[in-house]
Amino acid sequence: MKIFLGGKLVDEADAKISVFDHGLLYGDGIFEGIRAYHGKVFLLDQHVKRLFESAKAIALEIPMTQQEMADAVIKTCRANELSDGYIRLVVTRGVGTLGLNPYLCKKPEVFIIAAKIQLYPIELYETGMKVVTVGTVRNHPEAINPRIKSLNYLNNVLAKIEAINSGVLECIMLNGQGQVAEASGDNVFVVKDGVLKTPPVWCGALDGLTRRAVIQIAEDAGLTVKEDVLQRYDLFTADEMFLTGTAAEVIAVIDVDRRSIGTGKPGHITVDLQNRFKEFVKDNGTPIFDT
Ligand code: PMP
Repeated sequence: MKIFLGGKLVDEADAKISVFDHGLLYGDGIFEGIRAYHGKVFLLDQHVKRLFESAKAIALEIPMTQQEMADAVIKTCRANELSDGYIRLVVTRGVGTLGLNPYLCKKPEVFIIAAKIQLYPIELYETGMKVVTVGTVRNHPEAINPRIKSLNYLNNVLAKIEAINSGVLECIMLNGQGQVAEASGDNVFVVKDGVLKTPPVWCGALDGLTRRAVIQIAEDAGLTVKEDVLQRYDLFTADEMFLTGTAAEVIAVIDVDRRSIGTGKPGHITVDLQNRFKEFVKDNGTPIFDT
C-alpha cells in the first residue's frame, strides 16, 4: 500500500512519523474520514473544507491549499487503485518538544491512507442495531467543540468502551444537559409522526457530511426535516431511528436501552433513505481515474 506522507507517496513500511509528533503526544491534530464509491471520492470538496475549518479552529496552518489537498487524496487513491473504500486524511501539529506549546511545532505533518473499512457487521444493515445511552458526557462545545474533527477522540473512545461493555457496538452520547448529542462516531436521527428529526450541532454533534446529505435526500423526497433538541424520551418513543456517518453510512437502530424502537425492525422511511443514499453517492463524487 502507498501512503501519502510529507508531500509524496511512500511505501507503507516507510510511512513513519516521529514519536515527538504532537498528534501522538497530545492528540493535537485533525482528520477526515472519506469514502470512495464507484471510482469517485464522495463529497471530497466538503471534506477538505471541513478539514480546513477544523484546522482554523485549532490554530493549525495546513501547509497546502485546499486544491492541493484534494489532489493529494485523488493521487493516493489512484496509487492504490482504490475505487471503493475509505480514505483517512490526517494533519498533525508536527514534531515539537515534550511540552504543550504548539507554536514550537514548525511543520504540520500531512498523511493520507486509502484503504477499506467495515465499521459494523454487514448483517446489521439488514436487521438494524441495538444501542445504549452512556454516562460519558459529550465534550462541552467550549472545551473541545465536537464540530472540530480532532485527533483527540478519547471522549468518544470512553463512550465506545461503555457501549461494548454493555454488549452493543454503538452508543448514544448526551451533552451536559442530558440532551442527545450524537453516537460515538455517527450522527443520530429519529422519525416521529412522519417527521425526520436530528439534534442541532450545538447540542454537541459533529456537523456530519452524511447527516447533511441525508437531510438533503429526505427533503428532496418530500419529507419534513427538523433540527430539534432530543431527550432520551424522544429516542425511546421514536417510530424509527438511524445513525449516519461516512464509515457507518445509514444504519437503522432498533433498540435503545432495551426499549424497542417502533416495530423493533428497521422502519420503512429508514430503509427508503438507505436506498436513496446508495443512489446519491453515485452522483456526488470526484472521479479518481478519468481526469
Ligand atoms: N460524529 C462523530 C463523532 C464522528 O466521528 C463522525 C464521523 N465518523 C460523525 C459524527 C459522522 O460524520 P460524517 O458523516 O461527516 O462522517
